Amino acid sequence: MSTTHPDVTSTEAGGPTVLTGTPVVPGVALGPVIRPHGAVQLPTEDDAPVAEADRAGERARFSAAAELVAGRLTERAAAASGVSAAVLQTTAGLAKDRGLLSTVEQRIDAGASAAVATVGAAQQFAELFTSLGGLMAERVTDVNDVRDRIVAELTGQSEPGVTMPDTPSVLLADDLAPADTAGLDPARVVALATRLGGSTSHTAIIARQLGLPCVVAVGGLADVPEGAVVLVDGEQGTVTVDPDPADAQTRVEAAKTAAAALAGYEGPATTADGHAVQVLANVQDGAGARAAAAAHAEGVGLLRTELAFLGHSEEPSVEEQATGYAAVFEAFAGRKVVVRTLDAGSDKPLAFATPADEANPALGVRGLRTTRLNPGILTRQLDAVKQAAEATGAAPWVMAPMVSTVAEAADFAALVRERGMVPGVMVEVPSVALLADRFLEHLDFLSIGTNDLSQYTLAADRLSGDLADLTDPWQPALLRMVQLTAEAGQRTGKPVGVCGEAAADPLLACVLVGLGITSLSCAASSVAGVGAKLGTVTLATCQRAAEVALSAADPQAARAAVREVVDAA
Ligand code: PEP
Ligand code: MG
Repeated sequence: MSTTHPDVTSTEAGGPTVLTGTPVVPGVALGPVIRPHGAVQLPTEDDAPVAEADRAGERARFSAAAELVAGRLTERAAAASGVSAAVLQTTAGLAKDRGLLSTVEQRIDAGASAAVATVGAAQQFAELFTSLGGLMAERVTDVNDVRDRIVAELTGQSEPGVTMPDTPSVLLADDLAPADTAGLDPARVVALATRLGGSTSHTAIIARQLGLPCVVAVGGLADVPEGAVVLVDGEQGTVTVDPDPADAQTRVEAAKTAAAALAGYEGPATTADGHAVQVLANVQDGAGARAAAAAHAEGVGLLRTELAFLGHSEEPSVEEQATGYAAVFEAFAGRKVVVRTLDAGSDKPLAFATPADEANPALGVRGLRTTRLNPGILTRQLDAVKQAAEATGAAPWVMAPMVSTVAEAADFAALVRERGMVPGVMVEVPSVALLADRFLEHLDFLSIGTNDLSQYTLAADRLSGDLADLTDPWQPALLRMVQLTAEAGQRTGKPVGVCGEAAADPLLACVLVGLGITSLSCAASSVAGVGAKLGTVTLATCQRAAEVALSAADPQAARAAVREVVDAA
């Protein structure tokens, strides 16, 4: 049986072993392998209950350990920035979470030792988060991470995670805890590769923010010994074990030269022959918007409003929402800002907006569909966007996530137009790509969310590391969906952007432009790479790149064919 799964190992006649995975952050780096510390040994049972007289002491030991762990994580959060700081703060918050701490204390009061009580309470919380599904289920990694740190402290084991090496090294792991990736020093860890994880995993998001070359879902990675020298190529998606030293050095230098060229990028982006393409940023709040403006994004292509709502048990007031949106509008005064209405549900469940007991949340009540249960959440949010726009003089574009029918789009457009704003929807469900012309009769723009569009086109969970090859944005079927949508935009003269992770890949950006996409929105750290790359190719080359990508058999073949077209131009 033939397979196109990326776990391919090849050895060129006596040459080095090349492991293949999904490339997520471009760049080339070389170094000896380091790995996270081995797993913390977790006690599950005590030989005998702790004597009543000793329980207060046991509680104090637990509190001291939890405080120390929270303190260390908070310190690392203070030294980090952006997404890294947020991830570390979240994990530190869990180490101080009253619910978790009091569950441990109750178990100690019932006679468990501090370590056994910690393991039991963490298990209880992990089960709860798993039953909630989606992003909450992802918090299980955080709970287990906090558990391991506290138990290590209580039992004298070394702190789990990564010891920062003295020489620049490459970190290989099965998967990385969010707190490990967030705390990395990019001067000492120069690249990442993991056996699991997809292009939207935590590892990928943090690597992108730190600008560390990164490949995920790499087959055969477990067999690479610590200390072996590897070359990670985050554009080709390869990990080469014991590479030829001269060849490796040449590739590293070439990547450095390419990176240096980015330092001068100031936008706005055009192809080498002057075809303008807006390169915008995906942000979640005012701080992110200010960072994006400093990175020369032309505007915001996706304001993920739900991220500011995560963790709220009740809907934030119109005023609170308006203040948050105004901060983003101010960072991009006079420029384009696309606000996405609440994308609650599935991987982003919100206590006040989404049902808790859905059998299949990715196909359930999420995104715009939540208005079926509670239409007021949407209208109050639109009022808040309008209020922020009036206060700052902004003219925001507003789009809905997870739209499936023309009627849904028409109803949404009417609500947005009533408030004097510009309506659009995200293209995340194949039905929208297939009928894009009819949607555009009601809307002023479309924005393709390739993360979800690939999940629904290829029928593969976007969070599954095992299926990362299927949700690879280079899948020709996904590109065909993009083409259908872009062509509808060209026929009607309306803009069609891409705001999923696909837009962060400079080579794929050329393909998207060739397909007729008018704007690309990506993480602020990817803006210069994408913008600068477009400046090196003509529109005709992009169109040729789109042709070869569409006709390729699989993502690997598409990447290779496009690289050839772009390099030859
Ligand atoms: C997408 O689906 O591509 C997208 C941009 O939305 P999110 O990743 O927030 O679901
Ligand atoms: Mg989406």
